[in-house]
Amino acid sequence: MEIEKLKPTPSVKINDKDALVIVDVQNDFMPDGALGVKGGDEIIDSINQFSDKFHKTENVVILTQDWHPPKHLSFASSHNKRPYEPYESEGIGPILWPDHCVQGSNGARFHDTLETKFANAIIRKGYRPTIDSYSAFIENDGKTYTGLSGYLKVLGKKRVFICGLALDYCVYYSAIDGRNLGFEIVVLVDLSKAINSPPGQLSNALKQMVEIGVNFVKSENVTK
Ligand SMILES: [Zn+2]
Repeated sequence: MEIEKLKPTPSVKINDKDALVIVDVQNDFMPDGALGVKGGDEIIDSINQFSDKFHKTENVVILTQDWHPPKHLSFASSHNKRPYEPYESEGIGPILWPDHCVQGSNGARFHDTLETKFANAIIRKGYRPTIDSYSAFIENDGKTYTGLSGYLKVLGKKRVFICGLALDYCVYYSAIDGRNLGFEIVVLVDLSKAINSPPGQLSNALKQMVEIGVNFVKSENVTK
């Protein structure tokens, strides 16, 4: 499925049961970073504007941060393999990555231009040496929770807007888990960018999200 074929919702009004999750806007996911996402830097100003608008409605804004220990099992270097080679084991895969977002490193920091002052919470994920976490809700073993769903449920949140990097990995897995956990999910299409590796990953991700009932919207069509 092509991104142009999505049918974004014409307009969405923010209500008090909403939350915003901004996924992994970190240096290593910028075009010149260790795991660069094309255009990743181009969406930050718009994310900031949206985050400001959302914050003004007194709803919670959550940032996620990929946060791996050195020699994390998701790194190709930990297996003497090349980045982006296929690899599957419990909690890891379907492919291996270049070393990225190592705890405390410059690559793991939020991009300098990302406005973090609107954030109520930061969820760090992938910090266990043998489990990766694409999703902001549940790590890749499918059973280790990050705590985000509990946080949102305690606050009475029903709908979660998601944007950031990358559309076909961390945004995608967050959207799927969010739906399975009973949240209404709205992906902000213009505030997300994809990796599309292996080829077809983005198309598959979009198809799966549509099938599970994720909604898509352009940020300009979300009103207070
Ligand atoms: Zn990672």
